[in-house]
Amino acid sequence: MSRKCVMVLALVLLLGFAGGLAQAAPASATAPLPNIVVLATGGTIAGAAASDVQAGYTSGQVGVEQLLAAVPQAKKLASLRGEQISNIGSQDMNDEVWLKLARRINELTAMPEVAGVVITHGTDTIEETAYFLNLVVKSKKPVVLTAAMRPSTALSADGPLNFYNAVAVAANQSAAGRGVLVVVNDWIHGASSLTKTSTTAVQTFLSPVWGLIGTVAYGDTEFYRGPVGRNTVTSEFSLDKVTVLPRVDIIMAHENMDGALIDAAVAAGARGVVIAGVGNGNMTQAALDALAAQAKKGIVCVRSSRVATGRVGRNVEVDDDKYGFIASLGLNPQKSRVLLRLALTQTKDARQIQRYFDEY
Ligand code: ASP
Repeated sequence: MSRKCVMVLALVLLLGFAGGLAQAAPASATAPLPNIVVLATGGTIAGAAASDVQAGYTSGQVGVEQLLAAVPQAKKLASLRGEQISNIGSQDMNDEVWLKLARRINELTAMPEVAGVVITHGTDTIEETAYFLNLVVKSKKPVVLTAAMRPSTALSADGPLNFYNAVAVAANQSAAGRGVLVVVNDWIHGASSLTKTSTTAVQTFLSPVWGLIGTVAYGDTEFYRGPVGRNTVTSEFSLDKVTVLPRVDIIMAHENMDGALIDAAVAAGARGVVIAGVGNGNMTQAALDALAAQAKKGIVCVRSSRVATGRVGRNVEVDDDKYGFIASLGLNPQKSRVLLRLALTQTKDARQIQRYFDEY
């Protein structure tokens, strides 16, 4: 056989072999799985109780490796590795963990081989952490928080499926560019919209004003909308030069309110105050007077609402222009506090901070 014939035969055999392989194995089985890093912070998803039917339990008992091992199905969706950032109930969430978590996410998402990040967290303050990350993470890659209402040891624990769904969303390229997401109980929420609405129900998270970003059922993901407000790569906030976040306190308005707690917050070092007002961000005249006096001294004062849904409009029943106040618009008190803390790293100017509330 001539040399040319041998080469042609070899090529035919090679192509035949490759074709056989392609037939034998579906393309998805050979495509590399996306690399997702799981950052565990604690919460009920990592909680444990003495029995599977008792209400009392302790958050943050199970480590990230155990969490990953409990959901082997997720390894078919992504190549997973875990890191323990903290192991606390999210009622104990604090600035040290926030800064560590945000910086680690920025490092990880800057690595070309990392496709996305999943964060396990407690439900109590997940909306604040998600919104904080939404403002300081500098990547379009999927960053997805998840949680659980029932501890890992409970009958019908919700954590494993929530975790599975969170990995599915993080591994889905269509999740990119939608801001930081929260996946709980088959729903995909945006960081600025979600809020916890029930102390104990599994179906606790709602996105009352803006609606869901999407849904996810056993990993099958559907997206409905993009993010509300500037976020991640379009956010002008950065932690690059931040070592300390300014103190901002939230004070709830009520019947017969006076200005004592407003003054006490400032005396304790608050540089900003968020009022969880009644109705459309309202409060008694005595509280308004105390707030106005603090605003005059340079304390930044935001009117939000203790009502679960709806916007707080500027200059509706309160003359924000006259008092130098800021209206929180669509942000609830806890998220207003997050935005105000970051705003205060840039400026004390009430007009500029109102612009942040307009845009974020
Ligand atoms: N207290 C718990 C926490 O936030 C509640 C939960 O995770 O569901 O860590």
